[in-house]
Amino acid sequence: METVVIVGGGASGIMAALTAAENKNRRVLLLERQQRIGRKLLASGNGRCNLTNTGASAEHYHGEDAAFAAAALAHFPPQDTLDFFHALGLLTVTEYGGRVYPLSNSANSVLDVLRFALDRAGVEQRTACPVRALRREGAAYTVATDAESIRADKLIVACGGAAGGKLGGVTDGYELLKPLGLKRTGLFPSLTPVLTETDYPRALKGVRAQGRVRLTGGGATLAESRGEIQFTETGVSGPAVFDVSRAASTGGAGLLLHLDLLPGEAEDCLALLRRRREDYPDLEAAELFTGMLHNRLGRMLVKYSGIRAAQPLGTLTDAQLADAARAAKDFALPVRGVAGLDSAQVTAGGIRTVQIDPETLECRSLPGLFVCGELLDIDGDCGGYNLQWAWSSGRLAGRLGR
Ligand SMILES: Cc1cc2nc3c(=O)[nH]c(=O)nc-3n(C[C@H](O)[C@H](O)[C@H](O)COP(=O)(O)OP(=O)(O)OC[C@H]3O[C@@H](n4cnc5c(N)ncnc54)[C@H](O)[C@@H]3O)c2cc1C
Repeated sequence: METVVIVGGGASGIMAALTAAENKNRRVLLLERQQRIGRKLLASGNGRCNLTNTGASAEHYHGEDAAFAAAALAHFPPQDTLDFFHALGLLTVTEYGGRVYPLSNSANSVLDVLRFALDRAGVEQRTACPVRALRREGAAYTVATDAESIRADKLIVACGGAAGGKLGGVTDGYELLKPLGLKRTGLFPSLTPVLTETDYPRALKGVRAQGRVRLTGGGATLAESRGEIQFTETGVSGPAVFDVSRAASTGGAGLLLHLDLLPGEAEDCLALLRRRREDYPDLEAAELFTGMLHNRLGRMLVKYSGIRAAQPLGTLTDAQLADAARAAKDFALPVRGVAGLDSAQVTAGGIRTVQIDPETLECRSLPGLFVCGELLDIDGDCGGYNLQWAWSSGRLAGRLGR
């Protein structure tokens, strides 16, 4: 009987194990370093697990060769992910932007149906079982754990990336593959908060807004997105900011983050402020944005545009209103960097994909050894794209070259 060993019980490793176990003439062994499988999955999407995105196609992915992702996504696209989970008994709901969540709103539901499926498929699971070394032995591999050496006819390495350290993000995968000759790119955080000058964000800590985010460097726009923005002690966070964080991570010095806090036309914003001046001439300027934005944010914009908070609205000049509108449309914060891998949702960079066959995910120089998931040099946008990559690549690796 052929033995298939999967190193790493995260999203991609679980999918690879379930796929490999479809052939009943195999012994499938899933080895997980932590006390339980799927730890990162449980924390994903703020505990809700944004398990895929209905629009997940290759252009939402990044890496030295981002097109590498296309084959796995074509073999197992988002609709297949939905069919797969529905067949396991999971109910899902599709929200704004194609983001799919379990109907229960709980990541536990996703892991639960996967655990049931692993048991039903007869996958042997060992938890608290870190793999220490991988060796090639003729046509097979030896997998060394603290307790034993396991002979694997086929080996799938699904150790994930270094992001999210508290949830078990480690560099084990890169280190295990290094002695076998597999090289990696540099690693850097993506989908992570952006660190900016802190005077304004610190005062706005906890405030959320819907807006547009644009990252510039040397006068050029490097990345743009739209969605929720959150102010923090050290800068800005939230899905819209995560989407530009990869560019902030690699963009060098002199970057600026421009926040449009009233997305829409600039003239509309000015017209709104003029109407406010006409309707409420006796109110203080501090109330200029009241009802449009979070009160603290509105007051901050008034201050940012150099207007005295106590000045009566009726006395504001057209030029002052234009300054306030500009502040709302282009609240610019100098970037100091990005939060590190521990705070990031995903690792940008990883095992160089040129060493891997995109149609099978088998290593070109190591027959029988497959790599999948975040460990590879592929990372996706915010919104369910990274888990879709884990499912698609895990599915393909689990086919073991068939
Ligand atoms: C806070 C947070 C929220 C996220 N939210 C979302 C979201 O909502 N939607 C989305 O699409 N993506 C999200 N992501 C990203 C997504 O979770 C990951 O991209 C995805 O889990 C990667 O799957 P993987 O199987 O490659 O790696 P992982 O899920 O990290 O699994 C790898 C597994 O391998 C194990 N392992 C490592 N080394 C060894 C070893 N030596 N021996 C044995 N086992 C080992 C690890 O313990 C881990 O369980 C989020 C990430 C974080 C950190």
